[in-house]
Amino acid sequence: MLHIEDLHAEIGGKEILHGITLHIEPGETHVLMGPNGSGKSTLLMCIMGIDAYTITKGSITFNGVDVTHLPIHERARLGMGIMFQRPPSIPGLKLGKMLNVISPNKKPEDVSEAVSRMNMEEFMGRDINLGFSGGEIKRSEILQMMIQDPHFIMLDEPESGVDLENIHLMGESIARLLQKNQRFVNRKNSGLVITHTGYILDYLDVDKGHVMINGEFKCHGNPREILKLIKEKGYHECLKCAKIP
Ligand code: ADP
Ligand code: MG
Ligand code: MG
Repeated sequence: MLHIEDLHAEIGGKEILHGITLHIEPGETHVLMGPNGSGKSTLLMCIMGIDAYTITKGSITFNGVDVTHLPIHERARLGMGIMFQRPPSIPGLKLGKMLNVISPNKKPEDVSEAVSRMNMEEFMGRDINLGFSGGEIKRSEILQMMIQDPHFIMLDEPESGVDLENIHLMGESIARLLQKNQRFVNRKNSGLVITHTGYILDYLDVDKGHVMINGEFKCHGNPREILKLIKEKGYHECLKCAKIP
């Protein structure tokens, strides 16, 4: 599904990722952990193809296609979807209009069902994310993802800024997004999820965890065990882990 080899990336002339190798197989969900500023969001941006980041070395292959230098819309067309840590507001573009644009092949009743599942009926006439609370932004992003229906789903701290009641809704919705692909019978989607708190792991079926420190992976393993280690002993403990490629 996703194969990243020795990825080096920079922004503003500064190298942030120093050789990341990551393989996510079809149907697998991986978890990315690590201290603030270590480069987790940068990795997701590079996978998605956000312009500001320059890949200086290495490659990203998605479903057999070398996407290392493809523009973002082509990656989206190939089935990648992302929920940013801080999604931008889009003044002038209504959420309802956006859903129409991304749902040409969706039945209207499926769109309505997703809108109601995310409790977003009242937001259809509002500009995307403008004046939305933290939790409303995340719900709106998940809703758009439900309509876009990507088969590789990247989520950057989906629980941050979300209250406890909505974490439950987010968790269940994300689990549902990952569980199956509506275009392919019997196929699970794949995912890459950044989390600090691990709350989201209560809802997801996850396969592998990776800890990034200063732009490098320092530790790989069972995500729940890694999280426990970090909570008990701190990220430094990960530096003692064996580095398994
Ligand atoms: P994380 O998501 O792990 O908290 P990020 O990927 O957001 O980390 O950031 C990694 C590093 O890149 C940080 O030190 C951050 O300050 C730096 N960075 C992000 N954007 C820019 C930029 N436009 N110019 C220079 N450095 C940046
Ligand atoms: Mg951060
Ligand atoms: Mg981040």
